Amino acid sequence: MSDRMGNQDAKLLEQLVQRTPNGILVADAQGLLTMVNPAARSMIPMIPEPIGRSASEAIPIPDIVDALLYGHTEAIEFSFVQGSKDLLLRSLPLDPFGRLVIIQDVSLLRKAEQYRREFVANVSHELRTPATSISGFSEMLLENKDSYDEETASMIEVIYRNSLRLNSLFDDLLTLSKIDAQSVAMPVSEIFLLPIVVECVDKQRVRAEAREIGFQVLVSERLTVLANHDAMIHIVGNLVENAVKYNQDGGLVTVRADYRKDKGKVLLEVIDLGLGIAPSHQERIFERFFRVDKGRSRAVGGTGLGLSIVKRLVEKMGAKIELRSRVGRGSIFRVWLDTSEEV
Ligand code: ADP
Repeated sequence: MSDRMGNQDAKLLEQLVQRTPNGILVADAQGLLTMVNPAARSMIPMIPEPIGRSASEAIPIPDIVDALLYGHTEAIEFSFVQGSKDLLLRSLPLDPFGRLVIIQDVSLLRKAEQYRREFVANVSHELRTPATSISGFSEMLLENKDSYDEETASMIEVIYRNSLRLNSLFDDLLTLSKIDAQSVAMPVSEIFLLPIVVECVDKQRVRAEAREIGFQVLVSERLTVLANHDAMIHIVGNLVENAVKYNQDGGLVTVRADYRKDKGKVLLEVIDLGLGIAPSHQERIFERFFRVDKGRSRAVGGTGLGLSIVKRLVEKMGAKIELRSRVGRGSIFRVWLDTSEEV
């Protein structure tokens, strides 16, 4: 009975492997191919009789051969383009030896992502022009505030404030779609960190002084990082802006950076003594439009896109961002950056 069930199971498994739209490749511990399903044959070029042949002999794509042969303990995942197809490859270790590679055709998914990006970019671009004229003209009207009655003046102020919010929302959406559209890695060079920090802190001085928030900058003027200058201005600018926005009145913002010998990297920290972020929100803080407190974020002029842009820029430079925070105590945003010089 159990034998018959075993046979049925084997047949079912065989059909699954043969009929699944995902490509399946299996190599043994010696790197010899033991299974190749029809979907895999249709997705990637290979010799006509691949079974029993070494992966490198059978498949002329080095990435796939590497995925079948190396990294025996952990799972790996990457995308690549083959002809007109976007393929996603997952490589998993098999017990006790060998490796399974699953290839998925994600061309439609990538196309849909591209349409979404283009749509968002076009809409933001089109809406930005009227929003700019609304903010420009309402600002001009406000210059003659005294010639209106109180109610009219306060309505113009509301129009002006909201048009500024629209402008920053469209700017953030355009920035995000620009970053998403760049497929190549961002160009980086060795740059001094202190002038970037000083520029970003200076931009927030008026806002900080209004709430008696102080700044402390602890960055050596000789410290350099391997980074993209414009991206760094955006990253540090946003973290410092948030550290002010979500601080307590009379609080302090510290920007500190130094070279960590053990990691061989520069650690940049933006520290505030503000609200802090609960552990359940910390994972979501870098998502688009995620805000812990929508009302408060709106009141301080937030779009909910700032940290998602920061994260994308950090990743594009090959750097890393981390958050440490305690509710009621404050937050530390940490960025690990490459450098080629020890200070
Ligand atoms: P926003 O434009 O709303 O500030 P962000 O993407 O920059 O959007 O931040 C997302 C949310 O993360 C904010 O709405 C806020 O709730 C929270 N947040 C960001 N930085 C801090 C911080 N330094 N302290 C406390 N909360 C923060």
